[in-house]
Amino acid sequence: MKRSLALQSELVSLVALPSSNLGTLLTSSTFRLAVSLRLGAACVTPHRCHCGAQVTKFGTHGLSCTKSAGRSARHASLNDILRRALVSAGTPSVLEPTGLARDDGKRPDGMTLVPWKLGRPLVWDATCVDTLAPSHLPGTSARASAAAEAAEQLKRRKYAAIDTGCMFEPFGVETLGPWGQGAHGIFTELAKRLIDASGDQKAGAYLAQRIGIAVQRGNAASLLGTLPAGSDLGSIFYL
Ligand SMILES: [Zn+2]
Repeated sequence: MKRSLALQSELVSLVALPSSNLGTLLTSSTFRLAVSLRLGAACVTPHRCHCGAQVTKFGTHGLSCTKSAGRSARHASLNDILRRALVSAGTPSVLEPTGLARDDGKRPDGMTLVPWKLGRPLVWDATCVDTLAPSHLPGTSARASAAAEAAEQLKRRKYAAIDTGCMFEPFGVETLGPWGQGAHGIFTELAKRLIDASGDQKAGAYLAQRIGIAVQRGNAASLLGTLPAGSDLGSIFYL
């Protein structure tokens, strides 16, 4: 149920032109893992994650394991894509801007160096949460994008006290594809500006594909990140 709801989300797609120039070319192993995770097919021999948890043949534990190395790569990749797209759209931006720390000292992921809307620069914080994580299943079983939107609300609360001269927006996406409203809002405006700047009507679609592919790559890396050091991949993967 939760898988089918997530898959019905409008921006969910593995349909992307496999192009190294567009950054949408997947390795065959990443593609096979992405398809298995998407379909809920067995893809890995059950094993113990280095965090101590048991990984089933479906491999989904890695998508939400806080010890998996793939999570930070997925997060960094999303932010890099957003920053590059903003720059391409004529909006210079930086990652981890100084001077905008939250109460706990953490900095937002990025900020535009020129006004974004209503004369205020955009400050964003990206997050990718797992549609299938046990803590998110009650929400995602009932409504697509429930986990992304809950994560975005949490970000909004954490950044509520940020400089009012800025416009804060979370960019929340899920491992199985759905996006939160903040992500939709940033994407819609950014896609429009990319099309204006490049004259290419597909510029927005390419951006959506790059984001989707980054999530898929991150998912595969997260699954690989559950393997104990020195594992023989050939004997662990069914694929
Ligand atoms: Zn783990």
